[in-house]
Amino acid sequence: MSFIIGFKPNAEKKADSNIPLTENAVRKTEPKKSLVRVYFEDRDFSCSYYNDKFDLKVGDIVFVEGKMENFKGRVAEISYGFKIKLSDYKRVIALADTEVHGKLYMTRRHFISFERKTIPYSKISTWYAPPLKEDDEIINGEDDATYPLSENMTELKATPSVYNRGVDYYLDGNVKFIEIDGENGRAIVEGSTGYTVEFQYKNGEVSKLKCDCFCVGICKHIVATLLQFKEILESVEENYADIYKESGYFSVINKATLLSTVTMQKEQGEITL
Ligand SMILES: [Zn+2]
Repeated sequence: MSFIIGFKPNAEKKADSNIPLTENAVRKTEPKKSLVRVYFEDRDFSCSYYNDKFDLKVGDIVFVEGKMENFKGRVAEISYGFKIKLSDYKRVIALADTEVHGKLYMTRRHFISFERKTIPYSKISTWYAPPLKEDDEIINGEDDATYPLSENMTELKATPSVYNRGVDYYLDGNVKFIEIDGENGRAIVEGSTGYTVEFQYKNGEVSKLKCDCFCVGICKHIVATLLQFKEILESVEENYADIYKESGYFSVINKATLLSTVTMQKEQGEITL
């Protein structure tokens, strides 16, 4: 998101006061108040929200308050002329950062980057979930179990139904994003909403498995993540071993997700393949 930075018309006059000039002169422009129609694809539902936080454009990915708080929405329409009773409306609370710049390589179903700034978790996670609320208290427990990254991850001891649903998620391409920085891994798995799976990877073994779907133990998101991670590691070892060895980092994003998200509603720009 970009702000227009400039001089306010009255900056010169205010410069005489005791307020430092820089605070007067360089200021982020307040976003224009708007009433925004948001479409939630997963629910095939749309609703209007009040926005005074962001400079929105049609096609932006947003998150809102209220009963749709966990669902990704797209801005479908923006109105600036309105008179409303504020208590009748929920607000837009977060805007996804969909600006991606950098070099991407191909793997089977994903694009891969070896630079920390191109598709980091901090950016991609804004496409899938709103920021945590300030009053949410999150407690993590951790077990010390380690599991070899194997063909079918049988050591995970997931129940057969959880395991099978994890395999389906993997095969259906639900693991949208994985990042590994040194030993620390994170993934985003799309289910009813986007869930973050965290893990550690060292010497061919994974440990410290956690998922924010709030289930206890091994869930389908973890199973799917590890199967996808194994596939990507094999591809990296085969095709990009040198560059990965140098960076100690990679992140991957589902090809369709990246293209649809960063090119949606863009009328300018180019892609070179
Ligand atoms: Zn989970």
